[in-house]
Amino acid sequence: MIIDTPGMRELGNISITEGLDKTFDEIADLATNCKFTDCTHTVEKGCAVIEALENGELDNERYGNFIKLKKESAYYERTYLEKRKKEKEFGKLIKSVLKHNKRN
Ligand SMILES: [Zn+2]
Repeated sequence: MIIDTPGMRELGNISITEGLDKTFDEIADLATNCKFTDCTHTVEKGCAVIEALENGELDNERYGNFIKLKKESAYYERTYLEKRKKEKEFGKLIKSVLKHNKRN
């Protein structure tokens, strides 16, 4: 049986983001000063995180770990969504097979 839980995706995203913010709280603090709210802290102009990195306020290694984890969380999110899509397609397949069997 396939159970659809539309709230799962949001829950997953929140926990990943909250986990990152807790681990890198000083970066999360800096990020509130970024020019863009969807700042990735890598190439943006007006990024407070890059600024802190450049003037030595932020440790290079910390920043490196943060970006690495951010990329990983994006990767997990993507694979999760792909999995969900496949499950949906599989559900459709099952439904069509069931329909077909009923007819015969
Ligand atoms: Zn930024």
